[in-house]
Amino acid sequence: MSEKGFYGEFGGSYVPEDLQHVLEILAEEFEKAKKDPSFIKEFNDCLKDFVGRENPLTFADNLTKKYGGAKIYLKREDLNHTGAHKINNAIGQILLAKRMGAHRVIAETGAGQHGVATATACAMFGMECIIYMGKHDMQRQALNVFRMELLGAKVVSVDAGQGRLKDAVDAALGDLVENYQSTFYLLGSAVGPHPFPTMVKFFQSVISEESKRQILDKEGKLPTAVIAVTGGGSNAIGAFANYIQEPDVRLIGVEPAEAPSLTEGIPAIIHGFKCLTLLDEEGNPKPTYSIAAGLDYPGIGPEHSYLKGTGRAEYVTVSGEEALESFKELSKIEGIIPALESAHAIFYATKLASELKKDDIIIVNLSGRGDKDVQQVYEMEK
Ligand SMILES: *Cc1c(COP(=O)(O)O)cnc(C)c1O
Repeated sequence: MSEKGFYGEFGGSYVPEDLQHVLEILAEEFEKAKKDPSFIKEFNDCLKDFVGRENPLTFADNLTKKYGGAKIYLKREDLNHTGAHKINNAIGQILLAKRMGAHRVIAETGAGQHGVATATACAMFGMECIIYMGKHDMQRQALNVFRMELLGAKVVSVDAGQGRLKDAVDAALGDLVENYQSTFYLLGSAVGPHPFPTMVKFFQSVISEESKRQILDKEGKLPTAVIAVTGGGSNAIGAFANYIQEPDVRLIGVEPAEAPSLTEGIPAIIHGFKCLTLLDEEGNPKPTYSIAAGLDYPGIGPEHSYLKGTGRAEYVTVSGEEALESFKELSKIEGIIPALESAHAIFYATKLASELKKDDIIIVNLSGRGDKDVQQVYEMEK
């Protein structure tokens, strides 16, 4: 990665000058914090005492018996406080906000999962929390709005545009430019202008730091493949990070077939950075509709765009219907209800396991738990 956060042609920072200034300060502060042992210690302490890390690497015995071939292990991000990997990043960024003297934190949210993680971190550190959410999304996700309010956040309805995630990001960026002296923008995935993708990767890398240690401990060797679902790409880049320099480990990102940015996107600039993006005929980011709300994003992190180009990582698609199959199957045969997002990765893991040999190992990142999706699946089945 270069100075300005480029991964090959992807990434960078394509924003107005006043915002650029704010991002440069942020990048400098992040670089300093990263090298400060007291910052790293505080981050690790929070992950341990508040998030509940390290979480287990669970051998999925029944799934392996059914599909193996390869042994399937699950990295249990679903067991984190608040139920997904998003809290790792929220904690990391809130500590940076505190260090920078901000007392007001803003964030965007689509389905509400990142809003809940941010509101949780703010509650813990006594920070003022403002969540921008599209009007349309607020209606669909009323319970998550209430959840954020319970945690002390103020949820601001964004009426502009279609009232969805993209419009919420625009509103949050506008707020940041106006109030940057008191305000920290806590971005939710490995997307956006530099330094966000680099920063989010840094905080999510704990996933593969742990899984690598755990698999060496259990099996005495590295996995054949690491599989993770990609929305904006944060859990996947965290799950891949410590294996990127291990050429024998296959890295496989699973996209929703309904929003395949990496498989079908073209290079374009959205939200201030360049990545593979799904565009409509007029060249605007295309609205996407995945069964899993956390995967509804027309772009993808710049490093994934780059890793696809170099061939270091592979990207495949799984449909909502297939994910739903795995959602039910993992619940029934392993006693673990996965998030619908994570179920995409599980589905591909079962498919790959049957093609591999008995001495192969697959690690699937179980990015979150499915409690949040039970109601939706219930309504679909009714
Ligand atoms: C938000 C979310 C995702 C997708 O986001 P990434 O940034 O791609 O990780 C995946 N799984 C769960 C459980 C989520 O909440």
